[in-house]
Amino acid sequence: MRFTLCAFIAALPLLCAACDIHVQRVPPVTVTVREEAPPPPPPCNVCGGAGIVGCANCNGRGEVEVVTVCSACRGSGSLPCAHCGGKGVVSCPTCGGAGTIVEFDLGRRVNVKVKCRTCRGTGTLACGNCSRGHIVCSACGGRGRFTQVTRCRFCRGSGKVTCPRCRGAGR
Ligand SMILES: [Zn+2]
Ligand SMILES: [Zn+2]
Ligand SMILES: [Zn+2]
Ligand SMILES: [Zn+2]
Ligand SMILES: [Zn+2]
Repeated sequence: MRFTLCAFIAALPLLCAACDIHVQRVPPVTVTVREEAPPPPPPCNVCGGAGIVGCANCNGRGEVEVVTVCSACRGSGSLPCAHCGGKGVVSCPTCGGAGTIVEFDLGRRVNVKVKCRTCRGTGTLACGNCSRGHIVCSACGGRGRFTQVTRCRFCRGSGKVTCPRCRGAGR
């Protein structure tokens, strides 16, 4: 009888005072609160959490090339030849640039013009002082510019700088 009564009143939102069956049927409500630590902040997406990034000024090499244009040749690497005036050829000294010389023909007793053998009739000779009117600039050795490697002043030669986004914190 006690069980039947309890089963009846178990449908009601009442506790059965006569027995403890109903009480057992109501499971104790346990609220489990897990204490989770807050998620760590994501690492800095600029430096990946390292706090340092490669120096953009020197591309991480730690040194930079300073290129200076040669002022003597203005970067061309060559200078016009003073001997031939930049033409690359000089006037033939034998014929004076005419290409022909006057020879006395003994048999005919007349002066005849013959082709100058020194310049083969061209009147000019290649300037022996230059290459096609230009000489290599002695100041820069023909390179036209001076390349100087100096230590990068942004990263002081290390190639790395503090991350500008996280200021080195990594987060
Ligand atoms: Zn960073
Ligand atoms: Zn030069
Ligand atoms: Zn010359
Ligand atoms: Zn000649
Ligand atoms: Zn640098």
